[in-house]
Amino acid sequence: MSGDVMSEAARIDGKAFAEKLRGRVAEVAKGFEAKAGRKAGLAVVLVGDDPASHIYVRNKGKQTVECGMNSFEHLLPESTPEADLLALVEQLNTDPAVDGILVQLPLPDHMDEQKVIAAINPDKDVDGFHVINSGRLAVGLPGFVPCTPLGCLMMLKDQLGSLSGLDAVVIGRSNIVGKPMAALLLAESCTVTIAHSRTKDLPEVVRRADIVVAAVGRAQMVKGDWIKPGATVIDVGINRLPPTEEKPKGRIVGDVDYAEASKVAGAITPVPGGVGPMTIAVLLRNTVVAAHRNEGLSLDENAI
Ligand code: NDP
Repeated sequence: MSGDVMSEAARIDGKAFAEKLRGRVAEVAKGFEAKAGRKAGLAVVLVGDDPASHIYVRNKGKQTVECGMNSFEHLLPESTPEADLLALVEQLNTDPAVDGILVQLPLPDHMDEQKVIAAINPDKDVDGFHVINSGRLAVGLPGFVPCTPLGCLMMLKDQLGSLSGLDAVVIGRSNIVGKPMAALLLAESCTVTIAHSRTKDLPEVVRRADIVVAAVGRAQMVKGDWIKPGATVIDVGINRLPPTEEKPKGRIVGDVDYAEASKVAGAITPVPGGVGPMTIAVLLRNTVVAAHRNEGLSLDENAI
């Protein structure tokens, strides 16, 4: 061992950050109710019996109510015809009590996800998956940004202040994480590289980055020696390792090898307890923003 002193990276506490964000959302939701004479409302639609999705939807509903907003849950059987789901979306589009609509993905195989997302009124699309909102993000117009990457950006700005001029590498190019993340970082004047499964010499690409966002879905793929010393690392991945005697359900880990990377990075999000808790909190933030826009009420959106 050399005489080098290795300091441990700062741990970015997503759970605490999400709690603070929910606190701000609750304040804004209270103000909205006073001004609009009604509560902001989020409608969540779940088709099918997937137990994990049911837990997720229940959590969303609980946190929506805790923030002082109405939660409208629509639980539909797996066999629901696509036309019935589209009719429900249309009804929610015109319901003045509903400010945000979220259709939980994945949908059953007999449904066309793109068609269902396209049916949502873009001004109620708090998940930010509608192509109109992807377009608004791409050209820098106000719209709705997908919750997970927006949560990552909030944590990055809290950690680093200005991101201008920093080299950012986003690993993953999905429509819900990688691409919107890259667009957000570009809008903050980062120099952005998007890496994916065909990228040549990924470790070398990552080594250039002041900011690394890993959204791959491969357990502990990003190693410590890929990280530039002092870099900020955001780990979006949620992967379950094979069961062990100690963890019969299998441990949840990210896309980054935390034990290694935390010895090199300046700051890093843990998994669990990093990006994950931010996603629902940002959904609630987007809902209260939608409520203000729908009622034509002014709001300093950057302050939440
Ligand atoms: P996708 O499967 O849609 O995308 C994965 C991306 O990773 C693809 O662009 C793929 O490249 C790239 N990739 C796959 N293998 C490699 C490799 N060996 N080297 C470089 N790139 C690779 O995943 P999502 O974006 O939906 O999710 C990513 C992760 O984030 C998952 O673990 C998911 O569970 C998690 N997640 C967490 C959320 C949270 O709330 N914390 C929310 C959403 C997702 P290519 O395009 O070439 O195939």
